[in-house]
Amino acid sequence: MSPLGAVLGLMAGALAAPLSSVLMDRPPLRDQDNESLRAPWRCASCRAPLPLRRSIPVVSWLAQRGRCHSCAASIGTRELINDGLCLVVGLLTGAFVGVNAALPALMVLALVLVPMALIDLRLHKIPTRLVYPATAVVTVLLGVAAVVQGDPRRLVRALAGGLLASAFIWLLVIVYPAGMGDGDARLCLLLGMGLAWFGWGHLLYGLMAGFVLGSVVGIGYAIASGQGRKTQLPFGPWLGSGALLVMLIAPSIPVLG
Ligand SMILES: [Zn+2]
Repeated sequence: MSPLGAVLGLMAGALAAPLSSVLMDRPPLRDQDNESLRAPWRCASCRAPLPLRRSIPVVSWLAQRGRCHSCAASIGTRELINDGLCLVVGLLTGAFVGVNAALPALMVLALVLVPMALIDLRLHKIPTRLVYPATAVVTVLLGVAAVVQGDPRRLVRALAGGLLASAFIWLLVIVYPAGMGDGDARLCLLLGMGLAWFGWGHLLYGLMAGFVLGSVVGIGYAIASGQGRKTQLPFGPWLGSGALLVMLIAPSIPVLG
């Protein structure tokens, strides 16, 4: 655990929170219905601009008790959840990864999973316009890290891992289309890269963790909601959580480390 990494991660999370909030409110989707999506920075009720988003994540929300400063309408807990997740994910990523050449790449990867998961939960879609740019940025940053660490093979392994993970999910989508979607396959290009950066074992366990988490949540939700097999839960957030979990704690697992 790195205290300096934790502080840097918290700062990165605070910077990412407003951006994530905008992405969550206005997902970069091709077929988006602009009317149905609330414009960012504005109160849904009186349309007043929310100074909230330009201030401190979580703290501002709590200070305003989740209400619009102009008309006192509830602005919902989505902002709070978004901000909280960004701060926690940033903090944990910085603390576990520590201050090293790979931190920028892994921080971008971890933080982009927040809006991605929130959009997927809300709209059952993982925007290609978010996944591909994120994958490109992470690839470049991992490339820089590989050069700095003098180990270009890590980058090759990361790229191969990403392609392998993505191909595997594509195969599942073809075999069983009801289970996962194209978005999950694209997301696994990014997740696979991050996991394989650490090692092949991480790639395997990271994907497995995602499947286990997704299945547990899916079964739990099906039972709790009483809808049985009719329930369709997005898989992306759980694939992301599983991969992130393994990326962060894996170096502490002897078998993997
Ligand atoms: Zn208002």
